[in-house]
Amino acid sequence: MNFKELKLNKPILRAIAEKNYDAPTPVQEMTIPLVLDGKDVIASAQTGTGKTAAFALPILQLLFDRQDASKKKIKALIISPTRELAMQIQENFKDYAQYTNLVSAVIYGGSAIEPQIETLKKGVDILVATPGRLLDLHKQDVINLDYIETLVLDEADLMLDMGFIDDVKKIERLCPKGKQILLFSATMPFKVVQLANSILKDAEKIAVTPTSSAAARVHQTLYFTPKPKKIELCLHLLRNTIKGNILIFRRTKHGVDKLEQTLLRNNYKVDSIHGAKSQDERQEALNRFKNKETNILIATDVAARGIDIDNLDSVVNFDLPNIPETYVHRIGRTGRAGQSGTSYSFCSADEKQYVISIQKLMQKHIDVEEDHPYPLDPKAQPEVHKRKGSKHRKGRKSEGSKKKKKRWY
Ligand code: AMP
Repeated sequence: MNFKELKLNKPILRAIAEKNYDAPTPVQEMTIPLVLDGKDVIASAQTGTGKTAAFALPILQLLFDRQDASKKKIKALIISPTRELAMQIQENFKDYAQYTNLVSAVIYGGSAIEPQIETLKKGVDILVATPGRLLDLHKQDVINLDYIETLVLDEADLMLDMGFIDDVKKIERLCPKGKQILLFSATMPFKVVQLANSILKDAEKIAVTPTSSAAARVHQTLYFTPKPKKIELCLHLLRNTIKGNILIFRRTKHGVDKLEQTLLRNNYKVDSIHGAKSQDERQEALNRFKNKETNILIATDVAARGIDIDNLDSVVNFDLPNIPETYVHRIGRTGRAGQSGTSYSFCSADEKQYVISIQKLMQKHIDVEEDHPYPLDPKAQPEVHKRKGSKHRKGRKSEGSKKKKKRWY
């Protein structure tokens, strides 16, 4: 299928051609006709699947076709959980709308409100917003939601995880009754389904299956190591094994800072993003990474979620996530667009249960690398798949018991 067959009009097709998109991605193929048809849609799709264009292109098409009376009134509202994601979505809208006269804007918290008010006063057709700032500006009477025709809730699972459920429901109630609603979520836990059931009408359901494709595409390796040795293992692998553009995940902000300090002391070109950093700091870190001024970015899941970072060579799970889907999202950031990527996961004794859940979700074993200097006490190692044909493993049988103890077992 090509974009013409999706019945998009010329200005939009021209913008897509400039982005060098050859063909629609599966989520775009499935979603675009439904949105053009005015349907409510609930789509399970993660970042990297092309989900932004899946809602942005048909929204632009609909607005382009019927722009007249309510000119420069907000007609499409996109709610996003994080500032970075909101900015990225608006950049996409701007690119796709460059040959139309439709105007988009973005508003988010943690940044001066006045310039945002000025932009809104000039009039916009499409508004991308984080929930808190939107409600704030609505309360100040700067935003009129009476003309909303399409409401998009992006990354709904993260939005609920971040405690935005009441805000989201409130925003939905502030928009007119007959609007179209599109809900996108990387995962579909019960609370997201519940929200969808309470606000969407006869929604069409779409699922793309990133889980299996990401899992198949990425070369994944697991390292069992004691928690206090993770930093040493990380330094060892950065020196010897992990190359290129690297995204390292840690569970806590404190953990991110600590690792960043260590890597800086070891002369690595490293930056970090987490929730306690200001919007400007996060954006600058992201820009430096994208411009290749740094090649290592350390992040928490929430800070990294939804951010489009291209050409990632490796993902390091310094801490394993307790939600198995999060693991798949993390590794899905490498090996995009048909390229193969690599992931390195460090597992301490207390995280071994997570490995079992992750493998169950992926229906695939992760290879264990035994040949490294910081192994875990063998008694703490769970029953997982060993790397087949590993040099070290083959040699183990003939090794004396003393040596075995010193190495892995
Ligand atoms: P998203 O899942 O919306 O974050 O998109 C991930 C990346 O895919 C972005 O860099 C988009 O510009 C890109 N993209 C979206 N649609 C297509 C397409 N049909 N062909 C190629 N790249 C695309």
